[in-house]
Amino acid sequence: MKRVHNFSAGPATLPLSVLEKAQSELANYKEKGASIVEMSHRSPEYSEINEQAIQRLKTILGADDDWEVLFLQGGASTQFLMAPYNFLSEGQTADYIDTGAWSSKAIKEAKPFGNVHIPFSGKEINYTRIPSNDELTSSDDAVYTHITSNNTIFGTQFQEEPETNGSLLICDASSDFLSRPIDLDKYAMIYAGAQKNLGPAGVTVVMIRKSFMKNQKSEGIPTILNYQTHLDKIFNTPPVFAVYLVNYVLEWILEEGGISHFEELNTKKAGLLYSELDKDDFYRGTVEEDSRSKMNVTFRLQNEDLEKTFLSEAAGNDLVALKGHRSVGGIRASIYNACELESVEALVSFMQEFREKNG
Ligand SMILES: *Cc1c(COP(=O)(O)O)cnc(C)c1O
Repeated sequence: MKRVHNFSAGPATLPLSVLEKAQSELANYKEKGASIVEMSHRSPEYSEINEQAIQRLKTILGADDDWEVLFLQGGASTQFLMAPYNFLSEGQTADYIDTGAWSSKAIKEAKPFGNVHIPFSGKEINYTRIPSNDELTSSDDAVYTHITSNNTIFGTQFQEEPETNGSLLICDASSDFLSRPIDLDKYAMIYAGAQKNLGPAGVTVVMIRKSFMKNQKSEGIPTILNYQTHLDKIFNTPPVFAVYLVNYVLEWILEEGGISHFEELNTKKAGLLYSELDKDDFYRGTVEEDSRSKMNVTFRLQNEDLEKTFLSEAAGNDLVALKGHRSVGGIRASIYNACELESVEALVSFMQEFREKNG
């Protein structure tokens, strides 16, 4: 079997060991004579998977009992709506730091519910950097501050949590969840579509503080969009196969050495690529150095023709899915947890050869 070096931004590459494990038990889960996708989501088998995934996730992040974990559907995009539906009322203010396309979408969904204050927007500077704390004009009384921890499209990432004037963070961590440790004390809620760093498409992990639920609106929230509905019990059929795979990815994270292992590995992988970009101006990083993402490395070449040639020759070398997002162009290497060091090394070698030929 041949596997390519896959730099897809999402759905993204998964650990081969996880795929093979799922393959081996797809038709007959634990000698039950049926697949996990053919069983009730109330079965003991699925309940065990659900529980195990929650516990593993909490172990990986060191989350205490105040934290609940939900496996919801509708993608991170549905969380853009659910968060303000539950926690922002007319007359209240929520702060939204605008660091890219995903932040902007979250802002759009929040606006109908209350005041949305934007302490910083990177729009004018084409989202090429993350704000420093002294640039933020945070509200005094925000009910929460929403951030996008990693900007999948533009290739920037908060190097640490921003200061907020006291409000807790609600974070869209879709593209860097479990890539590095986080200071949970600063958060009310964290959500992430699984298809970047955690598993297949179809499930969104939502971590939410029980103690933050007291800030929930008392009425007007549709049942399915109400976090309490999902905290009370598994309300409707969850995406069982996606959760099942996420559970194995979480097991793999623990086996590999947990989050500190991945932080180190991701730092190494990103370092290899950025030092290649910094050698001269043949490759040009698109964002400011102190805002660089360790998950999505974005760069350009001298012109679009050369970028096309780069992409097609890369593909010829089994280096695939390197095309930048359609809204920004250029090249993007997405190097999430499951992207192996060998893949990044292969890309760097290719980049060196390509520079020699075309520089
Ligand atoms: C991919 C992505 C989304 C959108 O996720 P869906 O699951 O497709 O709704 C939102 N935010 C970020 C940061 C992303 O990378």
